[in-house]
Amino acid sequence: MALFKKKKEYIRINPYHAENVKQRPIPDVPHEMFTKCPACKQFIYAKDLGAVKVCPHCAYNFRLSAFERLQLTVDDGTFVEWDTGMKTQDPLNFPGYQDKLTKAKANTGLEEAVITGVAKILGRKTALAIMDSNFIMASMGTVLGEKVTRLFEKATELSLSVVIFTASGGARMQEGILSLMQMAKISAAVKRHSNAHLLYITVLTDPTTGGVTASFAMEGDIILAEPQSIVGFAGRRVIEQTMKTQLPENFQKAEFLKEHGFVDAIVPRGELPEKIAAILKIHQQQEE
Ligand SMILES: [Zn+2]
Repeated sequence: MALFKKKKEYIRINPYHAENVKQRPIPDVPHEMFTKCPACKQFIYAKDLGAVKVCPHCAYNFRLSAFERLQLTVDDGTFVEWDTGMKTQDPLNFPGYQDKLTKAKANTGLEEAVITGVAKILGRKTALAIMDSNFIMASMGTVLGEKVTRLFEKATELSLSVVIFTASGGARMQEGILSLMQMAKISAAVKRHSNAHLLYITVLTDPTTGGVTASFAMEGDIILAEPQSIVGFAGRRVIEQTMKTQLPENFQKAEFLKEHGFVDAIVPRGELPEKIAAILKIHQQQEE
């Protein structure tokens, strides 16, 4: 009992006790003013991140929403969205899936984890898809797969290049085999686009993994990546346990993939529109 009494006394004199704090003026610091870098763990003044959202300490590229990416990439007022209003179903009646979809829609303002359409990048017209990892980790379900397939089909019809910003946790487990089938369906559409001698550029962003890496993310004619992006199929721990081996520190980082020939160039986020437009220009000149 003596112990409890002592504790009570301590609380009474503690200047940080809730009752005492109430009387102290609390500085008005909005929560969003500071953010923590997931790579170097340093706190960053939100304004220092800028519109491109790159860590000033370690150059880590923060994840962007599809709308933020759109704003950074395309010329103002040129984006026309395709295949809007496609509704994601729950074909397997998977427990909790409907709730997950409802929350994802409310949090992101998107109908699915990808937006597709046509736009101009520094004056160069291209078909475009942007994936948003805030929507159920941009996992690939039937609607995402269908939208990307239609993007390639329409681009083939209109003789347009395709640029895709990938980000994904892989196939959407709530749609089971139906989500895995999207890999083959999209790949077939990519091939038909390629047969028409049209250009396909992928930009791998953090994270691009699973079935998306195993299909259209790695099928680009030119594969660019943002610095330090995680790109892989299975997770690092799963591979280490299966292979019973220690993997290198930068394993599955974009830089590691470039060293091993899977990525053509690592491009800092701020330079991406210029780089993409330059590649589109070379390709379009060859067509003329
Ligand atoms: Zn950092």
